[in-house]
Amino acid sequence: MKSCNNCGLPETYETFEFDENQVCNVCTQHKTKNTKVDWNKKREIFESLIDEYRGKGDYDCIVPFSGGKDSTYVLYKVVKEHNLKPLVISFDHGFYRDVHLKNVERTLKFLGVDYHLFKPNMKVVGRTMLESLKRKGDFCWHCHCGVFAYPMSMAVKLNIPLIIWGESVAEYTGYYDFEEGKWEMQDEEAFNRHINLGISAEDMAGFLGSDISERDLRPYQYPKLKDLEKIGYKSLQYGTFFKWDSLQNANLIKKEIGWEQDEVEGLPEEFSYEKLECRVNGVRDWIKYIKRGFGRTAQSVAREIRNGRLDIEDGKKMVFENDGKRPESLDYFLKILSITEDEFMDIVKKHQISPWNFDEKNIQKGKKLHDQDSWDDSKILK
Ligand SMILES: [Zn+2]
Repeated sequence: MKSCNNCGLPETYETFEFDENQVCNVCTQHKTKNTKVDWNKKREIFESLIDEYRGKGDYDCIVPFSGGKDSTYVLYKVVKEHNLKPLVISFDHGFYRDVHLKNVERTLKFLGVDYHLFKPNMKVVGRTMLESLKRKGDFCWHCHCGVFAYPMSMAVKLNIPLIIWGESVAEYTGYYDFEEGKWEMQDEEAFNRHINLGISAEDMAGFLGSDISERDLRPYQYPKLKDLEKIGYKSLQYGTFFKWDSLQNANLIKKEIGWEQDEVEGLPEEFSYEKLECRVNGVRDWIKYIKRGFGRTAQSVAREIRNGRLDIEDGKKMVFENDGKRPESLDYFLKILSITEDEFMDIVKKHQISPWNFDEKNIQKGKKLHDQDSWDDSKILK
């Protein structure tokens, strides 16, 4: 496979285009981010935007919150630096881990904020997981849609028009760039373009048959534009106004809040501040490896190369040692969804992206996470 001469990620990476030096468009965007963007001006724009919403209702804004490093950082900034009173909203994807839950509790107490948690019906979650895995080779439809649509619906219901999200998607894909003078709205266009896998809640209801109705899938449905416009909504990504650096952000919340990292499958310890909030992230990355030939370590390495903290040779070594191992959490995943490993492999292999060709003969096993044996593994699909 062809890969980027700067960051090492392969041509199968989503939205990748190479220039004449075989450097990818995301690396080029990062050059713009680091050299051409006037971040002071962006900060001023952000501050004048939020001033319009301050003190108008019970809350100044909604902060959609997973409790991972990104949303914890944004929440910290919103409260401590911008002096806003947020309503913090979590859509629980059903796979939270213990260290993560402690981080959430600690963060909420430290910042002194009101918290709204929504936990969806796990039987419905299980049905959507298997359906989206079969159709798109991605079982996370419920998480993508719930995390993005649910806080927007709450914004409408509670009449809180300002919503503040985390990093810009321009950090890691070519869907948007850091173009001067523009800010990226986390809106319906973005939702349909790169979040819902091309499957709306109405489509999903149609796929799942008569026992699951559109009503059951309401938490995954993006609110109507006219309803959002009625409240004068503004859905902003913090990372388009402030220069984003995941590592520095993680270090800040560790130091200030006592936020802790945890072991993550397929990632070396240096990067284990990422995605520790999800039990099945290892399966998600394993699927990515089977489909596209790279895992999460390759993505983290690329980010660190772009930030000038790692060279490509050391990065390649880390990728070789960590990516592409069968995660132990796959056993948990197969059990709760009542499918066999052969069925799983048959589905995922159908979604391979050419020219990558997954080699099934030489599969190495990954290391089991320290907390896996404590996860509730009741079946959510029979
Ligand atoms: Zn690149």
